[in-house]
Amino acid sequence: MSPPSSGGGPSLAERLATVDGRIADAAREADRDPALITRIVVTKFHPASLVRELAELGVRDMAENRQQELSAKRAELADDPALHGVRWHFVGQAQTNKARQIRAAADAVHSVDRARLVTALDAAAPGAQGVLDVLLQVNLTDDPGRGGVAPAELEALAEQVAAASTLRLRGIMAVAPLDEAPRPAFARVRELSTRLRRIVPDADWISAGMTADFEDAIAEGATHLRIGSAITGNRPARG
Ligand SMILES: *Cc1c(COP(=O)(O)O)cnc(C)c1O
Repeated sequence: MSPPSSGGGPSLAERLATVDGRIADAAREADRDPALITRIVVTKFHPASLVRELAELGVRDMAENRQQELSAKRAELADDPALHGVRWHFVGQAQTNKARQIRAAADAVHSVDRARLVTALDAAAPGAQGVLDVLLQVNLTDDPGRGGVAPAELEALAEQVAAASTLRLRGIMAVAPLDEAPRPAFARVRELSTRLRRIVPDADWISAGMTADFEDAIAEGATHLRIGSAITGNRPARG
């Protein structure tokens, strides 16, 4: 049992159950099977102890957005049996000079958005060890600072990943713009996913939807939701 959160609000288990109920409702509404939607819990800024609690509640997919924090949590939890079989997703901006550390710590990288990063991740492969799952992050805004490849360059980047023998292209990732309703933005992601699958037919993951907009993402075909604060509570201040 997880202890109630301070302040007497709902416990972690209750928040998780509430979100899962909302996911099931949104899936039903969209005529989709909720079992085909992966709920990833974003644990950034929270301690490893919260990751352990989530794992004990049955969470099998966790995400971080900073390489150092991801690597540190994995190291801290390396011998913890509760974490056995948990998949780690890297969802933050990736630096090419950290490609080796990212590869070592992540099972899937959602934020691949430029040719140099593809080259660096491929070159960082540790030899015999398996293939890294990657998603292409697409920028839904005109602001290059938001991260993600421009839609017009998506297909060229997909070709590059498809040719990289140590990477497996799984799909597309996006963050909703701040100045636009999420649903039409996620509809564009769905169209881009169709374009991507013309190049790599089984790259059918759509990683979209966060605390504020995951129901809209489900309505537009998201297969992987990245949910933080609705489950973990407010993030502690960065330390
Ligand atoms: C933090 C983060 C999330 C989760 O955000 P919430 O609003 O807390 O659900 C999802 N995706 C990315 C890339 C993030 O950095």
